Amino acid sequence: MEGHIVIFPSPGMGHLIPLTELAHRLLLHRRLFITFIIPTAAGTTVKPQNDILNAMPETISSIFLPPVNLNDLPEDATLETRIFLTVTQSLPALRQTLTDLTHDSVKKTPSALVADIFGAPGFEIAKEFNIPSYLFCPISAMALVSVFQLPVLDKMYACDFKDLSEPVSLPGCVPVHGSDMPEPIQDKKNETYTQMVEFAKTCNLLSGVLVNSFLELEPGPFKAMEEGEWCKPKIYSVGPLIRSGSENQTGEGFECLKWLDKHPIGSVLFVSFGSGGTLSQNQLNELAFGLEQSGQRFVWVVKSPHGKSNASYLSAQSILDPLEFLPEGFMERVQDRGLLLSTWAPQVEILSHGSTGGFLTHCGWNSILESVVCGVPMIAWPLFAEQKMNTVFLADGLGVARRVKVGEDGVVGRDEVNNCIRSLMGGEDGHKMRLKIRQLRDLSSMALSRDGSSTKSLLDVAQKWCG
Ligand code: UDP
Repeated sequence: MEGHIVIFPSPGMGHLIPLTELAHRLLLHRRLFITFIIPTAAGTTVKPQNDILNAMPETISSIFLPPVNLNDLPEDATLETRIFLTVTQSLPALRQTLTDLTHDSVKKTPSALVADIFGAPGFEIAKEFNIPSYLFCPISAMALVSVFQLPVLDKMYACDFKDLSEPVSLPGCVPVHGSDMPEPIQDKKNETYTQMVEFAKTCNLLSGVLVNSFLELEPGPFKAMEEGEWCKPKIYSVGPLIRSGSENQTGEGFECLKWLDKHPIGSVLFVSFGSGGTLSQNQLNELAFGLEQSGQRFVWVVKSPHGKSNASYLSAQSILDPLEFLPEGFMERVQDRGLLLSTWAPQVEILSHGSTGGFLTHCGWNSILESVVCGVPMIAWPLFAEQKMNTVFLADGLGVARRVKVGEDGVVGRDEVNNCIRSLMGGEDGHKMRLKIRQLRDLSSMALSRDGSSTKSLLDVAQKWCG
């Protein structure tokens, strides 16, 4: 074996999935041990995480750290606070695990610790062991620019981003309205804002940053980071790292692939708000009525309604039966053309199925990459985190998505849902977006090919880790 690296993902599927793909791709090129060390919160299910980790080759092992108890947190604590505390309270256990690993005579001391932004407190522990720290960004290069620029923007603007009258201009990026900047940094009074500013300052001490994106998708932000004095570490574009599909295509979710087989090419809209996105009851109804009005075929991953838009992020599954919350008679009325899923859906398989012609998405970065790789244009319905910024990039920057208009009551009405669906699936706009995203699909496969930009970048960093 050539080396050993440790991966410390913060809680949530959106972080774990691309990191497992990073591990898979590394193994294609190098013989090395990879250990996932995973912080967990008590009371959250780790089943979807386990399913993915259990399917990994034997040189990739995983260690779940003892669950952290967050019972003392107030009900309304933000998702970021929950993730941050899960990670920071797991640090003693991380230290112990690294101590054990450095005494492992087979695997030997790791040559790198890779963590995502929320897992970054782990870098302090890595330093104690002289292990180089690498940041993995499961976000766009544009969102990464916003992180690097945060200390500058913090000095430049006294007010919150949402109160700015002019769009924020980030180097190399499409202009973005303050209210579309990433949610955790919207409110200067929020402790996450201060943590992010502090984190951004420490980024320049990192040994390197791996971004789950590719040069051809985001040439502007990558160039700006390479040339800008404000970005010190070496940036590696290693994406798109998307789940390559499950070997074991069984279970309720996979039944939908058979359903898709029965429908014409490009005729089905896939509707999903990621692992954690949730809608209010009112919004769920409007979406249902909009889907009904559109007359469109669809597969919809339904989650139980919730007042918070990211309620199922840490557990990835609804606790109550989501189908109970749909408008009365809805299921019967759409049964010939709509399929409702209430469990974890095989998203990559659905998007790559020929019958899928559009994706109504919350614009999580993984979902976007998956849509790009499968060449499926989108309806962008951002909910939380940096999803509004992603939407700006997709709609204004790339022209491969139509953004939903939110009404004054904060709800996307049924007519708007209907209009967006019709224009994406049957309209001229949808056609143009489809052509553009297919060009990006081809570029994404080039980036991952033998001499592609992302493969070169991955080999470059692997060389540092394996010597
Ligand atoms: N996903 C899935 N089935 C589901 C929901 C989500 O396979 O029912 C996967 C999806 O393919 C993506 C990830 O979970 O890889 C969600 O990541 P994303 O960044 O899009 O959103 P997040 O869940 O982090 O908000």
